Amino acid sequence: MHMGNKVIIFSAPSGAGKSTIVNHILGLHPEMEFSISATSRSPRGSEKDGVEYYFFTEEQFREMIAEDKFIEHEEVYPGSFYGTLKSEIERIWAKGHVIIFDIDVQGGVNLKRIFGEKAFSIFIQAPSVDELRKRLTGRATDSPEAIEKRIAKAESEMEFAAGKFDYVLVNDDLGKAFAEAEKIVDGFIGVQE
Ligand code: 5GP
Repeated sequence: MHMGNKVIIFSAPSGAGKSTIVNHILGLHPEMEFSISATSRSPRGSEKDGVEYYFFTEEQFREMIAEDKFIEHEEVYPGSFYGTLKSEIERIWAKGHVIIFDIDVQGGVNLKRIFGEKAFSIFIQAPSVDELRKRLTGRATDSPEAIEKRIAKAESEMEFAAGKFDYVLVNDDLGKAFAEAEKIVDGFIGVQE
């Protein structure tokens, strides 16, 4: 695998607005491309295979782990596996594009360790646990149990993340968060040329 290219890693507790910010950045930068993860969870809403995720059964996923197909993988929620395929990194770098990762907090720390100076890692923080609960409830795609599971995970992630990322972006105002994300992404791409 050649390591000549750059990667930007976005990690956050679920519901912190990470996907919205990632999509905003992708919309501004045609030279950046989203890393499509593999997962064993089922598609949600209008999600399509090969767009938001590559969807697999748990059995297929375990087989790919055994075959060493992942650069990193994790059981993000009990029974739900997520991972970045080595082939996905090759696919994007082959085009000369910068890779954008939307990945959980542990995965973000692992990728930063793997890519080192090639990577800039951004932790997006929701303003509070109450606000996070409001956002997840408003989204209405998860059951109350699933929402509580996500909140518990968010709380432990916030503790874990402190000091492990290149930048912490507090998302209490989406417009401001967009502007801040643009500035830090441009800064990283610029200084790396
Ligand atoms: P969701 O099920 O809401 O799409 O994602 C759940 C969590 O898994 C999110 O924090 C998301 O960023 C994370 N995730 C998505 N893809 C990957 C991946 O390839 N590896 C890891 N470690 N986490 C991932």
